[in-house]
Amino acid sequence: MKIQSCKRQSGRWWLHFSLLGLLLMTMPFVVYGQQYDLLIKGGHLIDPKNGIDAQLDVAISEGIIARVTENIPESEAAKTIDATGYYVTPGLIDVHAHVFVGSTPGRFADGFSSVSPDGFTFRNGITTVVDPGNAGWRNFEAFKKQVIEPSDTRVLAFVNIVGHGLSGTSYNNDLNDMDIEKTLSIVEKYPEIIVGTKFGHYAGNDYLVPFERALEVARRANQPLLLECNLPELNVEDILERLRPGDIFTHAYERGNRSLLDGQGRIYDYVFKARERGILFDVGHGGASFRFSQAIPSVDQGFWPDTFGTDLHRFSMNAGMKDMLNVMSKFLNMGMSMQDVILRATWISAKSVNREDLGHLSVGAVADLAILNKKKGSYGFVDSGGYRIDGDRKLLAELTIREGRIVWDLNGLAAVPWDE
Ligand SMILES: [Zn+2]
Repeated sequence: MKIQSCKRQSGRWWLHFSLLGLLLMTMPFVVYGQQYDLLIKGGHLIDPKNGIDAQLDVAISEGIIARVTENIPESEAAKTIDATGYYVTPGLIDVHAHVFVGSTPGRFADGFSSVSPDGFTFRNGITTVVDPGNAGWRNFEAFKKQVIEPSDTRVLAFVNIVGHGLSGTSYNNDLNDMDIEKTLSIVEKYPEIIVGTKFGHYAGNDYLVPFERALEVARRANQPLLLECNLPELNVEDILERLRPGDIFTHAYERGNRSLLDGQGRIYDYVFKARERGILFDVGHGGASFRFSQAIPSVDQGFWPDTFGTDLHRFSMNAGMKDMLNVMSKFLNMGMSMQDVILRATWISAKSVNREDLGHLSVGAVADLAILNKKKGSYGFVDSGGYRIDGDRKLLAELTIREGRIVWDLNGLAAVPWDE
């Protein structure tokens, strides 16, 4: 009826109809032109999980990786970042960062010795950190409310077998505060945050008692145990045999009773056997736990780390460790390839905490990315003993994206020149 009336009124209803048709036909292209929020163009993409090591563009939509391919037109994105000359990688994952910051001096749990994650992550290309058991079942809720929820960084956590977590020596050594059922109940309450159980600071005689309790929780939760060997009586061979595939031994390049090298600087056979069984070895650099005198002979024998846990805290960040990209740069300069460095900092790290949704740039994955600059020059790298190696490569984070949002932009890659 309307068309007829139109015809009657104008006699050119067919023209209106054609214009409407034309509009409907072109509308999808108009929408198509703005289909991506962000496009990262021209970078060297390294996405080890997907076997990608090539110049490819990445398009992001609504916080998700929407497309990864060659030459995505700029016209299809609301904003384009030129990453020519840089590496584009999944957001880095630091599997050992003390972030239960609070106001208590001398403590890691709710304490002044931990640091706030957002202040140390994005400027390093890191989008996820894993806290190594600063909290136990008694203070995990406080940790969640105080740090995990308000942080823009994704914070995952191991829960300490000690109910008070890392609250000081008297707590660390109190077997009465190591409750299997209560620890398991907090693990089961927060499966989206808690990735495993942690044991590692105990000065008592029989460390196997608390060790077995932590292992019991990890076993029942079907999660890894994180072992930090601040154990005066430690027998490394014995404890490695007790670990299960997927359990994590941190501080892999430490001296003293935690060393993985014999008196002649050879890696013990039982260390290689543990690795063959699937035990993971984390750097866990920290303020006192990484020595070139251990690491260089180790890597010369093919014993590279699985992950680059920094052991970030108030002291390590101002000492030889500094930050995760500095730790990764040490291994680059010790001879690890860029692809192998990124593999460990992303996909292996994600798998080590059973978070296979992270650490890669598959279409549909959360858009956590880093744009890294591999600088050439003269650099020095310092270990926990104050010893140095010289190197000619150093990684910097140019830009970091967390769930599609730019959260760090060192040189204003995404910014507009002031006079435009
Ligand atoms: Zn630590």
